[in-house]
Amino acid sequence: MFTISEKHSAVVRTSELPSKADSCGAMLSVGRNCVKGEFMPRRTRQQRLALIAAAMLSVVCCAACDWSGYGYGYTNGQGMVLAPHDTISVYQLAHRLNMTVRSSSASRAVLSDSVNSVMMTAGPTARIYVNGSAIRHSSQIRPVGNILFVSPSAQSSIGVWLKHPVAEARPRYVRLGAGAETVSSSVGRAGSALGPVFIDAGHGGRDPGAISVNGVQEKTINLAVALQVAELLRERNVKVILTRSDDTFYELDERCVMSNRSIAAMFVSIHADSSTNIQARGCTVYVSRSASVGSTRLAEAISNSMASSGIISRGVHRADYRVLVGTTAPASLVELGFLSNWAEAAALTDRNYQRRLAEAIASGIVAELHRSAAAGLR
Ligand SMILES: [Zn+2]
Repeated sequence: MFTISEKHSAVVRTSELPSKADSCGAMLSVGRNCVKGEFMPRRTRQQRLALIAAAMLSVVCCAACDWSGYGYGYTNGQGMVLAPHDTISVYQLAHRLNMTVRSSSASRAVLSDSVNSVMMTAGPTARIYVNGSAIRHSSQIRPVGNILFVSPSAQSSIGVWLKHPVAEARPRYVRLGAGAETVSSSVGRAGSALGPVFIDAGHGGRDPGAISVNGVQEKTINLAVALQVAELLRERNVKVILTRSDDTFYELDERCVMSNRSIAAMFVSIHADSSTNIQARGCTVYVSRSASVGSTRLAEAISNSMASSGIISRGVHRADYRVLVGTTAPASLVELGFLSNWAEAAALTDRNYQRRLAEAIASGIVAELHRSAAAGLR
């Protein structure tokens, strides 16, 4: 189990936090010494030797991190992207511009809609081209891992050069029925009333995720709840796409690509927590640090639904999980509860409790879909 650096995880609204930060297997492994210095009081020789050993260990830790770009952001290959504060990923930028990411690498990204194409290149001479022409901008464009991150100002810098009207690159939350014909959405017309919603059961295959105190693998619980969420959503006429419906392993980036290609209206990843504090319990919903309004509303809807279902809710937190910054759709990650807590571990393997969790998640999603649809039709 690892620690999330406080530097990179801000609390939006929370209840009690465990003494150590928590994580499931998709989380970050970063020693604090990797990211910030700390005040060192006078110590005994033994303590100093221990600290030197710890410092050497932290160097190993940092060496294990996938440092990239310009020395201020990195990924650790376990699910968390540590991008600079006040930046957004190209996927989040695409969402704000109502565009789709056509290609993305550590050096270049291409976004497009039906009439516009935007290319950005990273490096000391970072450039942004809109429809083939370089534009003036003051945005930083820097890679973290293989994802480019830009200043939020890039949205307005690019936006003024886009041809109008910008085509609807992705479906809006559309409810068929009266007035539906006035709403443009090929997905909506294809038959499903709402969505599609992308449900991502965390881990799978060779990646078990966290292991509960009673020996159950996180991947199994994630899948059981994800399948029930999908079933409940489909019953409510919501189109659902699953990352996996069996014990299959997919890389985090593959999950992002699947969601982005499906032009999902929402992305919800399902995990279960673990902590060194065995008292820690409750459901937590995460959004990225630079989450869109849509992502935050989705997370709050799920969190509120959990709370009103009588499930312990730890509120909405911010952390840059890779699946949250690599997806274009409004995205949140749900940690169902703590596998490190005996009572909660037992509950998480109980079919009835899993159903309660699934119903709460599905209700939150549906509430946000309807709220968004109503807002879109006004
Ligand atoms: Zn997990």
